[in-house]
Amino acid sequence: MPVDSEFYKNIKEELHNRNVTLVAVSKTKPIEEILELYNLGQTDFGESYVQELCDKHEHLPHDIQWHFIGHLQSNKVKYIAPFVSLIQGVDTKKLLEEINKQGEKLNKVIDCLLQVHISDEETKFGFDERELEELFNSNSLNLSDLNNVRICGLMGMASFTNDMNKVRNEFKLLKSLFDKFSILKPVAFGSKFSMLSMGMSADYKIAIEEGSNVVRIGSLLFGSR
Ligand SMILES: *Cc1c(COP(=O)(O)O)cnc(C)c1O
Repeated sequence: MPVDSEFYKNIKEELHNRNVTLVAVSKTKPIEEILELYNLGQTDFGESYVQELCDKHEHLPHDIQWHFIGHLQSNKVKYIAPFVSLIQGVDTKKLLEEINKQGEKLNKVIDCLLQVHISDEETKFGFDERELEELFNSNSLNLSDLNNVRICGLMGMASFTNDMNKVRNEFKLLKSLFDKFSILKPVAFGSKFSMLSMGMSADYKIAIEEGSNVVRIGSLLFGSR
């Protein structure tokens, strides 16, 4: 399905006016459609699978900012570390340490978002509030010793439901955690604990009302998967 350029321009402008970054989620979509959007000026794309991301990176312009938004296994970090722009779904301390290790090898700092579990679904990954507290306060892992990761903010996914009040409340929770941890600002945050990634095709408007500044939109741009 060709990309609807009129729709893209409208949503891009809507988000731009609100200072919200648009990540175009291109998982399962072919190279040609990504290029179409790229040629309209889109630079940030999100992918959920390591192999697919590596293939696409190889075949597409190298100034694309690739966001990894899926569940990342530690043993696969090395494949995307050289080129990934932001790893959005960091959901364990172990994964954060592995990303740091790969960053060290490449002599680069890798930007990450911590994924927070805000829905009541068991299948969605992420830290809960207590685990985040532990991560920031832990003695075993001093975040400021991780010189090759930069925690740029938080990411979360609301429940898959038609109950938009429930979705809104989950976003409110994530925003409140974002505010809470922004104030702590440990050294490892570098200069920017500033990104709050929440909202997808079905709920991005609510997410923005609740304070999101990064939305991850797939099907609205590319059609259903
Ligand atoms: C697939 C995916 C999206 C995009 O979903 P749409 O409903 O198609 O907009 C956003 N975030 C994550 C983490 C995803 O896996």
